[in-house]
Amino acid sequence: MLQVTQAPRGPVLAQQRFSILGVASIADAGKTLLLVVDDQFRTDGPIVKPNGTWQVDFLFQAAGNRRLRIELGNDNTTVVVQVVTTLPQAQQLRFTQIPTRLLALQSATVEGTASNFAEGTQLILRSDRRFELARPTVLAGKWRSTIGFNQAGRRVIEILSTDGTIRAETEIDVVEAKPRPPRLSFTNPPQRVKVETVVRLTGVAENYGEDDQLVLRADQKLELARPKVVDGKWQAQTLFRQPGNRLIEIIGSEQDRAQIIIEVQAPPAATFRVLSRNIWTNNPTPADLPNLAPKRITMHHTALSGQPAISGTQAQEAARMRVVYNGHVNGNGWTDIGYHFIIMPSGRVYEGRSERKRGSHDLVNDGLGIAFDGVYSANTISQQQYQAAVALCTVLCKRYGFKNTVTPVPTPTADFGTRNLPLICGHRDRVATACPGSEGGRTVRLSEIRTAVNAQL
Ligand SMILES: [Zn+2]
Repeated sequence: MLQVTQAPRGPVLAQQRFSILGVASIADAGKTLLLVVDDQFRTDGPIVKPNGTWQVDFLFQAAGNRRLRIELGNDNTTVVVQVVTTLPQAQQLRFTQIPTRLLALQSATVEGTASNFAEGTQLILRSDRRFELARPTVLAGKWRSTIGFNQAGRRVIEILSTDGTIRAETEIDVVEAKPRPPRLSFTNPPQRVKVETVVRLTGVAENYGEDDQLVLRADQKLELARPKVVDGKWQAQTLFRQPGNRLIEIIGSEQDRAQIIIEVQAPPAATFRVLSRNIWTNNPTPADLPNLAPKRITMHHTALSGQPAISGTQAQEAARMRVVYNGHVNGNGWTDIGYHFIIMPSGRVYEGRSERKRGSHDLVNDGLGIAFDGVYSANTISQQQYQAAVALCTVLCKRYGFKNTVTPVPTPTADFGTRNLPLICGHRDRVATACPGSEGGRTVRLSEIRTAVNAQL
């Protein structure tokens, strides 16, 4: 049993060493193989190794087919090896130019290379492995052809030798020839959003150019943003200041717009509460004070520096209430604190004088007195104080049936006779004083408070 286990599969180069490996019976270990080349030249070969394997190395000077017989006793095996001076180069076909996308009913040029093909060799260009499109010929190592399709769809394009053994393939998208009009849309728009909360709106802008400008508009008049088309999409951020339903449009032209309706929700009901008087004093409001049927609200500042910080504790604020109380009772000689409510920088609201009793705060005292604790001739009240004032005034206006806090109505004053004032007015509107701070109540945001409260009545 003499067998070859490894020999050259293709041509070998002249003047280059190559090996033939094989096995013999282990019983033949130590025996010498006989080699016969081209049935003529006989020579001793290598010895069979103890494990039965053997290896013969050859090297030929000249090209030609060599017949190599290996013999051992009566057994032999033959290998034919083609010896060449140069190895043939592999033929190769490639695409070098082909559109990835082609409109139906339009043509495109397809080009490629044909390495190691003879000049004038005919090739086959076909689609979907079935339909012959053209028979380009090889010119200077290249081929080219024109292709076109009637129908849209994805196509496999092949270039191959006529015998089909050498080939290359690629794919092309054939798309509908009819141009489509631009079209805008919203992507997952929110149905409802909260007032004063940033909202991100996004959408698709089909068949628009990169950087094309769009307009985002509310209620057919208010421009919210001018988003640009990026990668076939648009996005914009906006926020809404008033509750209610909004018609939102994304507009590319008068002939292309998309619409949605978003419900803008009012902020959740204020969670604020008034901290009752017994938190800071055991003294009740004297029962013998005249009763009050509130007709309006007058806003003040305490005009006392040293107010608690925004982060102040309730204990610090209770102590501060006693400071204000002490000034009014022991300084002014009143029987109780003059204001009905005091709003601390933290936004906490403290009950002052019982709202069932007339106060001591604007000389007329036909309404409720609310004071921001601190001096606001230059500094502005905290955002917490502002929000608490809106919430407190809203509750009080609803409680006492005030329907409108912005329109001026004839109002008695201490120093200016009868004046037209809104139902939420400033101390200085009725008395010659700087309270509650700057001219027009800017530092205590008086006008904003009136408007915000009015929107909730
Ligand atoms: Zn005042």
